[in-house]
Amino acid sequence: DVITVDVIIIGAGAAGLSAGKTLSEGGITDFVILEATERIGGRIRNAEFARLKVELGANWIEGVNGEKENPVYTLANEVNLKYSDALYDNVSQNIYDHTGYLAPELVTPVVERAEHLFDFVEDLGTKFTNENLDDISVLTAQRFFGHVPSTAVEMVIDSWNYDFVSAEPPRVTSLRNSQPLATDTFLGPDSYFVSDQRGYATLLEPLAYYLNCKGGMCSDPRLRLNTAVTKIEYSTGGVTVHTEDEIRYRGKAAVLTVSIGVLQTDLIHFSPALPFWKLSAIYQFNMAVYTKIFLKFPKRFWPTGPGTEYLLYADVKRGYYPFWQHLDNEFPGENIIFTTVTDDESRRIEQMPDEETLAEVMVVLRKMFGPDIPNASHILYPRWWQDKYFRGTFSNWPIGVSSYEYKQLQAPVGRLYFSGEHCSEQYNGYVHGAIFAGSETAHAVLKCLHEDKCDTLYSRPKA
Ligand code: FAD
Repeated sequence: DVITVDVIIIGAGAAGLSAGKTLSEGGITDFVILEATERIGGRIRNAEFARLKVELGANWIEGVNGEKENPVYTLANEVNLKYSDALYDNVSQNIYDHTGYLAPELVTPVVERAEHLFDFVEDLGTKFTNENLDDISVLTAQRFFGHVPSTAVEMVIDSWNYDFVSAEPPRVTSLRNSQPLATDTFLGPDSYFVSDQRGYATLLEPLAYYLNCKGGMCSDPRLRLNTAVTKIEYSTGGVTVHTEDEIRYRGKAAVLTVSIGVLQTDLIHFSPALPFWKLSAIYQFNMAVYTKIFLKFPKRFWPTGPGTEYLLYADVKRGYYPFWQHLDNEFPGENIIFTTVTDDESRRIEQMPDEETLAEVMVVLRKMFGPDIPNASHILYPRWWQDKYFRGTFSNWPIGVSSYEYKQLQAPVGRLYFSGEHCSEQYNGYVHGAIFAGSETAHAVLKCLHEDKCDTLYSRPKA
């Protein structure tokens, strides 16, 4: 079977849905969206957890109240999404180690120094960009400060400042492309934590208005769920996409929005093989892993009230169950708390059964809160890295990838266009990055199909 359309979009995450919107607005409605899973939303996904719904993927609306509008915030308000302020500021009041709670007098000087370090690194990032200096890692930048975090408490605050955001340590992350964070600078310093029981993905419904979605169900036949792409043939004449159910879609152009983690695997076969420069750009960029582990207890044993939401656990091993957040405000009386791990710790626990992870987590919690706390009754965490349709959670810009190489990551090959959060130069890693990238790529496709200007690498409008 061959189905002929103008444009084939691969992936119904935020980027694919955003691309469909821009195409629709540009007068191209003859497209299909091929999505491997049974739903729209991709990395925005919730799950049942002890009678409630929790977000396994994106959870915060990041970057609000700044000079530029964040489309995620606008969409959230359009559907009256339930969210609350992310109260990050009291962290010096909420630090624990293997001896239990650490008095603020002990940790405040460490937190203050970390703040100076953070500001110093941001300023250095600005200098490197303004003076067009060769990139260095965030860790290298920290060395210019004269003090690199090394005690357990210093390390947990450091990972709170960096790993909690980019899911990789400062050693890996590009200074020039992450400091200061464009999301904070342009979209705003505030974030909101989403706890809506309809799910964060509800905000995608107005974005994908052309698919007529309600409560996660979409009636427009252009959306093809459970349709995994296996092969893509591309040329300057068009694109043919093969799916697992042995249908071929032929289009004048295609927009591929699968994650950079997926592109780094052989899940999709390209014909001809992707050129070396393209593969090199794909392989150099990083797909990070960030894992929230949800826990429910028969009773609450952590402090509650304003300023207690975020807790840190300082282990001698950096990244060992460091970040904690209780959900007493969002789900009062439910006794739910979650811990977040990243990077190698995420990859490690993805390979462990839930019970083994729970046993480790309980040892940590007993160090923090004493031996008498009850065992958790429920545990839930996703395995994004092992999932062949994701292979991680979001991209992180590593040291060594220049703006030129980044353009190669975004660049089309023939009429096959690349999109997804990893293609948003300023906002990679975020939902808004995916929305901006989807729209930018679709603009490039429109230019190609309407004006015959297909060499779009440098002609995309900036978000
Ligand atoms: P995706 O959502 O990955 O969409 C691509 C789609 O392609 C997927 O639906 C996938 O199923 C599909 N696909 C893959 N392979 C195939 C194939 N062979 N054939 C057909 N379809 C295929 N962002 C924030 O702004 N705030 C946050 O708080 C935040 N936290 C996060 C926490 C976690 C745990 C995760 C996972 C992500 C988080 N993000 C956050 C990042 C944000 O979720 C992503 O940047 C964004 O959703 C990516 O959208 P996308 O459309 O680029 O990719």
